[in-house]
Amino acid sequence: MSSSPIETVIVDGLALANEIRDDLAQRIKAHREAGRRAPCLAVVLVGDDPASASYIKGKQRACARIGMDSVEHRHPASTGEKELLDLVDGRNRDPGIDGILVQLPLPEGVRANAVTEALSPEKDVDGLSPVNQGRLLLGEPSHRACTPLGVMKILERYAIPLEGARAVVIGRSALVGKPVSLLLQQANATVTMCHSRTADLPGTCREADVLVAAVGVPRLVQRDWVKPGAAVIDVGVSQVEGKLVGDVDTEGMQGVARIVTPHRRGVGPMTVTMLLSNTLDAYEAHLGE
Ligand code: NAP
Repeated sequence: MSSSPIETVIVDGLALANEIRDDLAQRIKAHREAGRRAPCLAVVLVGDDPASASYIKGKQRACARIGMDSVEHRHPASTGEKELLDLVDGRNRDPGIDGILVQLPLPEGVRANAVTEALSPEKDVDGLSPVNQGRLLLGEPSHRACTPLGVMKILERYAIPLEGARAVVIGRSALVGKPVSLLLQQANATVTMCHSRTADLPGTCREADVLVAAVGVPRLVQRDWVKPGAAVIDVGVSQVEGKLVGDVDTEGMQGVARIVTPHRRGVGPMTVTMLLSNTLDAYEAHLGE
């Protein structure tokens, strides 16, 4: 008896992001109508990396579109760690700032860990400070890292069952792999975390009901790595001959995966949306203080 063919759904991360942004805009509008100030995100950029500059521009545009203020702190690549720590300290103490985003990577000579550690956990809307990562590990409330949170929202929106599911995450970074593994585990999935030394990566991936690739190796995940009916989330972004490519061979997922995120309009728009969402949560918590 042959099983019915699988109709693969291509996730529309942009549409979901826009839906969530509309809700955030409504929440901000209600605060404004009640006479309160707008929420405000401080964005810190050190150095002149064009990709980082373009990311922060995009994030500031996204803030403006939902009625959130942002202030930009641009510093030359020669900025020392002490100066940056002083800047963070000032924004931590500033009552008009609800969230602080320090765009990574930082120039050589500035320890990113020292800077994220200096962020007030309440204003660390990227969820990358040791306190917020520790709270995630302990299952306590905190700002969760934006990309992992975006992945979880996609799985929720597309009604992917997680309880008792086998989840495989490729990548073990503090930015994506580790936090998304913890979030999946907290949603009662049984999680395997893979990395560059994993033996039989394709075989491990074939066991996954939910497969998350956060690697940065173009089209690493092939059709025959995927269990029929699995949800496949492609976090990876690489450049190949000037084009952006994900970790997953998206076309190869047709008829095998239940859902797959495209490398454009997939996880990316959700990451920025979760930054906005965390900042609004920080603002509302700030108001309640
Ligand atoms: P990362 O810090 O470089 O981590 C990559 C992970 O992949 C590491 O754990 C590494 O293993 C593992 N890995 C590398 N090659 C592998 C291989 N051949 N097989 C299995 N595992 C392998 O990267 P990241 O910051 O987590 O980001 C991962 C990707 O997501 C990148 O492409 C990044 O651009 C993208 N990203 C996208 C968004 C978005 O919003 N769409 C946000 C963040 C990141 P080891 O630990 O053993 O080295």
